[in-house]
Amino acid sequence: PTRRVLLEGLESMNVGGKVPLGLKSKSQRIVVTGGAGFVGSHLVDRLIARGDSVIVIDNFFTGRKENLAHHFGNPKFELIRHDVVEPILLEVDQIYHLACPASPVHYKFNPTNVVGTLNMLGLAKRVGARFLLTSTSEVYGDPLQHPQVETYWGNVNPIGVRSCYDEGKRTAETLSMDYHRGLGIEVRIARIFNTYGPRMCIDDGRVVSNFVAQALRKEPLTVYGDGKQTRSFQYVSDLVEGLMRLMEGNHVGPFNLGNPGEFTMLELAQVVQDTIDPNAKIEFRPNTEDDPHKRKPDISKAKELLGWEPTVSLRKGLPLMVTDFRQRIFGDAKDNIA
Ligand code: NAD
Ligand code: UDP
Ligand code: UDP
Repeated sequence: PTRRVLLEGLESMNVGGKVPLGLKSKSQRIVVTGGAGFVGSHLVDRLIARGDSVIVIDNFFTGRKENLAHHFGNPKFELIRHDVVEPILLEVDQIYHLACPASPVHYKFNPTNVVGTLNMLGLAKRVGARFLLTSTSEVYGDPLQHPQVETYWGNVNPIGVRSCYDEGKRTAETLSMDYHRGLGIEVRIARIFNTYGPRMCIDDGRVVSNFVAQALRKEPLTVYGDGKQTRSFQYVSDLVEGLMRLMEGNHVGPFNLGNPGEFTMLELAQVVQDTIDPNAKIEFRPNTEDDPHKRKPDISKAKELLGWEPTVSLRKGLPLMVTDFRQRIFGDAKDNIA
């Protein structure tokens, strides 16, 4: 309600009739669930820089306070330690719902995607907030269509070891659409493809973080299977830009947000070798069950309706992540000498 009153106020002041985006965003109170995590903390940085008031809800399952420490003391920033599986009462205008155990090591047997999403939709309903779900390319499973378009329904094993994550996100999309269609809640759905960058969890088993940490520690890069499976790697600032455009725009989605550049794991290992250590060895390991063979987003819809496309290539983005990982693994130079 506050937002509406404020917008009406701004509109009546503005004889041209259009509220400048910068002014509109100043009035927003925004919840970011999972805001202490990798993507969430970068999103919080952008929202705070834009002048919004941000409330982060995080249980620090994989997130870290350090990712947000630079906002402590800012009156426009609040951090609540809370598990979204439990209900919570807040008054806000927008909800970015990122909370999720995001890595295969963490996501087994976890109800966050279903119960947590339901609670955040319940919150959106009670206060009339706009709700954005960060879904995943995993909803396409081991895709039989390549590249994946939003209209593809996917090829997912409902009882596999990954199903808590991919079926959980599919259920979260279903719940979001039901709240939208049945109750008129404003929802936005992003299907995020593999994303990397500074503040990524170092030891959660994702391929980019594994390879970078391994190369820095002079350990062999562990390639699972034959290494010919493909993924598309998106730099985190591109993703955050896409999420904000989606939230502010007029389209529900779902929208694929990813970088269409497609790499085999062996090609990725090569880029990591070129960036960090040309002598890094490669070690082959058995692959995990149900590992998707290929993945590459078709982003025509986001290009057309959100005016969005990635701008940072893997070879440009990787060094930015390496600088952060080097600092976190080895500390700064002084610590090393001591
Ligand atoms: P992350 O693990 O760094 O962040 C997730 C955050 O959610 C963490 O801070 C964690 O502590 C928090 N969290 C988990 N369960 C919670 C709960 N029950 N209550 C409160 N907080 C909880 O992962 P990320 O890579 O930043 O992912 C953010 C979102 O983007 C997730 O929803 C993920 O599924 C989605 N996504 C990410 C990628 C990627 O490549 N990074 C790809 C597809 C989708
Ligand atoms: N909920 C919440 N915060 C709110 C409003 C709702 O956490 O501000 C939770 C609520 O506890 C419930 C879920 O969101 O578990 C769904 O709420 P909704 O009102 O849609 O469903 P109902 O409670 O009517 O079943
Ligand atoms: N992978 C790999 N070495 C690793 C970790 C992962 O070769 O150390 C492979 C994994 O088998 C998969 C791909 O990299 O084919 C991407 O894995 P990740 O867990 O990063 O993302 P997702 O499978 O969710 O796309």
